Amino acid sequence: MKHLRQRVLVTGGAGFIGSHLCERLLDAGANVLCVDNFFTGSHDNIAHLLPHPQFEVMRHDVTFPLHVEIDAIYNLACPASPIHYQHDPVATTKVSVYGAINMLGLAKRTGARILQASTSEVYGDPAVHPQPEAYWGNVNPIGPRSCYDEGKRCAETLFFDYHRQHKVAIKVARIFNTYGPRMHPHDGRVVSNFIVQALSGKPLTLYGDGAQTRSFCYVDDLVDGLMRLMATPGDVTGPVNLGNPEEFTMRDLARLVVELTGSRSELTHLPLPEDDPRQRRPDIAMARSLLNWSPTIRLVDGLERTIAYFRRQTNAWGLQGLR
Ligand code: NAD
Repeated sequence: MKHLRQRVLVTGGAGFIGSHLCERLLDAGANVLCVDNFFTGSHDNIAHLLPHPQFEVMRHDVTFPLHVEIDAIYNLACPASPIHYQHDPVATTKVSVYGAINMLGLAKRTGARILQASTSEVYGDPAVHPQPEAYWGNVNPIGPRSCYDEGKRCAETLFFDYHRQHKVAIKVARIFNTYGPRMHPHDGRVVSNFIVQALSGKPLTLYGDGAQTRSFCYVDDLVDGLMRLMATPGDVTGPVNLGNPEEFTMRDLARLVVELTGSRSELTHLPLPEDDPRQRRPDIAMARSLLNWSPTIRLVDGLERTIAYFRRQTNAWGLQGLR
């Protein structure tokens, strides 16, 4: 997975996953162009990369065309948490659809390979567990989540049509829940919520009895999967699920966070929301066979690193900053 001297564009490069990807691409010898409009990303996420001679940043909104010379594109630009993507749903659909058209057009013109950061949300409220790539999903086209789910589904359609019609070399990754340092503290996801609650001494909120399960992939594992997918032969397009199939109950996750933070926070229960799935888990057989990939970082180790990050942020911003 050497990227020596390759010019690699990362859209959404100042975000949570994108900033880790930029870092790893630089380590692999690539020239990295990070393009971001800083809607949910931040300068802090990439500040440590700025002195690197092979790193460049451009403030740009991918819903507008971009003219650069490039060898490979990782298309990550899109707000990823419900709080952020429902803030301006029309803009969310635009970033997925216009963003895909603009980046695919760029790939077509330059002959670059292009990887799309798609999502497990394309499976919607799945009727099949765990979800293999062959499952077409069960998505509501008109609900408040549809701007994200359907936007990402349309982006996948565009990727495959540019591949069939214009021979663009595409790779589609369907990413499941990912966590790690540089997650946004206020994006409402369970891992960051629990950590922020524990560090600020507030009760950790469990919905229902907390017996519902989720699976979480540490960001370094995910980035490794994305880079492996990008390095596959031209005939490999995906979609490929990338996620951690190991399941944890929310109650166990909350207890683990309390233990690892050394917090005195208690667990509190709220009613289960109507659309809360009991279980969500990826089938990663394809990633195992095509990419020789599976997650390697245990939840306890990933949580420790994530907690250390939030602790540093807490010290930098003061506890108020995390509330
Ligand atoms: P993030 O919000 O931290 O990163 C998204 C980045 O895209 C941000 O830096 C944001 O400023 C940028 N962006 C948003 N709109 C833009 C625009 N119009 N032009 C340019 N930049 C724009 O989210 P993340 O968790 O790092 O997610 C990255 C990608 O991975 C997203 O496409 C997301 O849908 C996908 N994904 C993430 C997860 C997860 O668990 N984090 C799961 C599935 C899929």
